[in-house]
Amino acid sequence: MPYGYTGKILHVDLTTGKMHVEQPRPDFYRRYMGGSAMGMHYLLRDMRAGTDPLGADNVLALFNGLLTGTAISGQSRMTAVAKSPLTGCIGDSQGGGFFPAELKFAGFDGIVLRGQSPRPVYLWIKDREFELRDAAHLWGRITGDVEDTLHAELDDKRVEVLQIGPAGENLVRYAAIMSMSNRANGRTGLGAVMGSKKLKAIAVRGTHKPEVADKASLLELTKWGAKTVPTSDVAGLGKYGTAEVVSGQHRAGGLPTRNFNSGSYDDWEKIDGTTLYDTRLKGAENGQQDRFGRDTCYSCAVRCKRVSEVAEGPYKTEHRYGGPEYETLATFGSYCAIDDLDAIIRANALCNMYGMDTITCGATIAWAMECFENGRIGLEDTGGLTLRFGDAAMMVKLTEMIGKGEGFGVLLAKGSAQAAAIIGRGTDEFLITSKGQEAPAHMPQVKRSLALVYAANPFGADHQSHEHDPSYEAYPVRMAQIGLDKPQEKLALNEEIVRYAMVTQHLYSALDSINVCQFVFGPAWQLYDTEQLVQAASAVTGWKITVPELLEVGERRLNMLRAFNAREGIGRESDTLPKKFMKPLSGGTSDGYMIDRNEFEAALDTYYRLCEWDAVTGYPTPAKLNSLGLGWLVVNGKPAPAKNAPGRSAGAKKAGAKKPAVKKPIAKKMAARKPVAKKRAVNKLVAKKQIAKAKTAAKPKPAARKRVVKAKAAAKRRPAARKTAAKSKSAARKR
Ligand code: SF4
Repeated sequence: MPYGYTGKILHVDLTTGKMHVEQPRPDFYRRYMGGSAMGMHYLLRDMRAGTDPLGADNVLALFNGLLTGTAISGQSRMTAVAKSPLTGCIGDSQGGGFFPAELKFAGFDGIVLRGQSPRPVYLWIKDREFELRDAAHLWGRITGDVEDTLHAELDDKRVEVLQIGPAGENLVRYAAIMSMSNRANGRTGLGAVMGSKKLKAIAVRGTHKPEVADKASLLELTKWGAKTVPTSDVAGLGKYGTAEVVSGQHRAGGLPTRNFNSGSYDDWEKIDGTTLYDTRLKGAENGQQDRFGRDTCYSCAVRCKRVSEVAEGPYKTEHRYGGPEYETLATFGSYCAIDDLDAIIRANALCNMYGMDTITCGATIAWAMECFENGRIGLEDTGGLTLRFGDAAMMVKLTEMIGKGEGFGVLLAKGSAQAAAIIGRGTDEFLITSKGQEAPAHMPQVKRSLALVYAANPFGADHQSHEHDPSYEAYPVRMAQIGLDKPQEKLALNEEIVRYAMVTQHLYSALDSINVCQFVFGPAWQLYDTEQLVQAASAVTGWKITVPELLEVGERRLNMLRAFNAREGIGRESDTLPKKFMKPLSGGTSDGYMIDRNEFEAALDTYYRLCEWDAVTGYPTPAKLNSLGLGWLVVNGKPAPAKNAPGRSAGAKKAGAKKPAVKKPIAKKMAARKPVAKKRAVNKLVAKKQIAKAKTAAKPKPAARKRVVKAKAAAKRRPAARKTAAKSKSAARKR
């Protein structure tokens, strides 16, 4: 077992209730390193193309990372991957808190979930022991209640609970997987996948700290980080949270307003991070917000999480449900033209109580508001509700209706793209989605590389999949560590910006595989730079990891995500942008800014070329997959499911990989979906026919049988004939 890891992965079949532990080989760990890449290995190995995202065959993989559970900041992260019910593409989402570290302390690097339980259950893991327990008493309850109940039931307040809320049970297409009742693996709807499996929660408690190869080096980096936070570029992030960027986004014309019609919001100060810090953080009334209003993930010195509360009024909110991030302030705020901070805090809390992604939820409500204002939907669609930009009470009401599965909320629970497809009437004109996922609150019109990444990202529009444009110029020393030394003009979308997007995408992809916080480790403004990350990873594992190896891990994971989509038939035709991005913005610094379609398509061509993907289909080429050690994904010259993935352990072969006897009908089924299998099945049928023919030929036919009978009869007669002949001969001699 490599240092830093537990060496164990728990496999759970929720249909049968059977569980086993896999102990992968060391090369498996070095190849994927953890998180998203490790989870993708199981999805690509075990899932067929065309699997129903909400069916039993969807695989939900949860993995922590290489540094998880050590003392350094930014390491307690967990990635969830599964096929997304929101997009039909690969789903991928990261979350923090204390659960990821606790899972490692409990003895596991990850959990792979398959099947569907016949009744609600929860998984209880304590120090390498595990069992499924009945969860009927938890079903239908909000996150805070479930956490309290499990703490009481398991008699330990230090148990960490990963769970779905009622939104996950109701299969809201953007349901989140929650922990601490305020941390979310929010994007791509993987809470609905967990809900479809009737898995309400995973509770963990462990006491085994991971072994570290070079404790002194890791300690040195850990202490440096803690000492440097106050003077670093993340000091403001710690104090004001991600909410601190509201003002900068507005000034740059990049704060999405009225469903992306503008990049400037006149009332931005009412929802800014400073206002939140001064007036709504717990303890703000007596200047104690730094003590009570900031929360953290396991062993992180940055402490960027918000603890906000609204003591009274219609939006009264308990502080246990955290506080809004920048994305939440924007999607429930400026997206909907709402300047009521209490209403936004309440909407954020509702999302955490019911378990929903705040980005998609807020953006879907903003889309509905614009559809209503333009007469594309009416009172008959909304059940009598009037939707207008700026109506805070309606925004909160709709959020609650979505979480509870009531009225118009049932349609909005599908996300804006699926809802537009159901309604029609030109409602797609107001969508802000790529691959069916709503865009976060960063504007490609202002930061052009986002246009490319929003479109090409395998799991839909995402702002945490690469480094944004301004960092290229602002952090030249750090950028040079990953071979980027040609910063470009603002608003450029030329070959160098495409290369910048791709290289930083590989790095961010590695961050999601090693599984570290992108506020703490990264190529630009983060606390630790890329070289410090490889130092930390090398200190933990004892491997001599280099920056190029790190980038290759990220590139491998990106190609795995892309290959998953390719085998679903999803490629270039899905790498698109919302129509609204091609129309000029109105007002503020970015007045008139828009994406030029020809420039965007040219950038996409360049991107495929640099990624070494097929220019027509957008699929990873066999040569690229082979070069990344993913040749097992190539069948008949294109990405396809493979049976013989590398890195399978002896344990897995013994426990989970026993090759079933192939019955004849299975060969026919396989022929329907796999070219190679089809060939094999055809060969089998040909062989079968030939054998049958040979047998038939071997059987005597009726006429032949007659001849045989005659022959036999003749044979029987022969002695007599011989006697006759002998008599004749004898008579002749006598004569
Ligand atoms: S920077 Fe914030 S989100 Fe990241 S690990 Fe630290 S507390 Fe958690």
